[in-house]
Amino acid sequence: MKKSKIKILLLMFFAFLLPLQGCIQPGTPEDTDTEEENPGKTYVGCYETAEYVYQSDVTESCLTTDLSAEYLLLMNKEQTLGADYIPASLTYLTCPTTKSIQLETRAAQALYEMFKEMDAAGVDDVWVTSAYRSYEYQSGLFNYYISLETNHCANNGDFSTDAYACLGAEYLRVNYLDAGITRLSTADARRVVLSYSAEPGTSEHQTGLCVDFITSGMNGSLTVAFENTEAFAWLKENAYKFGYILRYPKGKEDITGYTYEPWHYRFVGREAATDIHFGNLTLEEYLQLAGA
Ligand SMILES: [Zn+2]
Repeated sequence: MKKSKIKILLLMFFAFLLPLQGCIQPGTPEDTDTEEENPGKTYVGCYETAEYVYQSDVTESCLTTDLSAEYLLLMNKEQTLGADYIPASLTYLTCPTTKSIQLETRAAQALYEMFKEMDAAGVDDVWVTSAYRSYEYQSGLFNYYISLETNHCANNGDFSTDAYACLGAEYLRVNYLDAGITRLSTADARRVVLSYSAEPGTSEHQTGLCVDFITSGMNGSLTVAFENTEAFAWLKENAYKFGYILRYPKGKEDITGYTYEPWHYRFVGREAATDIHFGNLTLEEYLQLAGA
């Protein structure tokens, strides 16, 4: 048999094998039956034995966590970790970054493997712009934003677009502009800042398990424009193989509490990431199904 034929047969084999290895195949009769018999539970842990075909020499051992609770740590607006939480093991990233950045050690190892594979796929316009952020750092950032919003009108002649989006033009006119007040009250500034920034102690970045990606065309700001990049297209299809998930997907805002963030990826280990990816789940939904 010709080499090229063997290659095609191998590819067909893997293409056939992969979808069958998990239990989460929405729409198939088997899954519907299983779900009815045992709602929820069957959706977790189904992909543990999944094998992936990598283009580079990926070290798979650092991608798995054996569903360790440490890597399934939940931190959101409702479940906080407190000011004292610091990840047990942090390391400075040596992959492409926009500045000096720290990440939890296992999450960093998996990230390096992912960068290696992205590079092999020709995706090289991508950097990490943020990862671990301490409570103190987030606190400083949050207070900085509050002062910007408070003084925005006095400094720029009008309130910010975020203030208009959050508080409404009528509210700003009646309570501030008509009364000649150019400084937002602290309470109003806080409401505005909460619409785009996490309150100290509620940012997932404090876990040291997530990263924000950026590309050269984004002019240094994290926007949904990341959705149109080659890096996003690759991550969307492949991040789960390295234990990373899109943490704040579109259409799940009411569950995560955050607007869609195509640039924010969270390490949970390959087992959970695979279930979350194929099940179209959020971390919140996954943990609930797992009974965690
Ligand atoms: Zn982020």
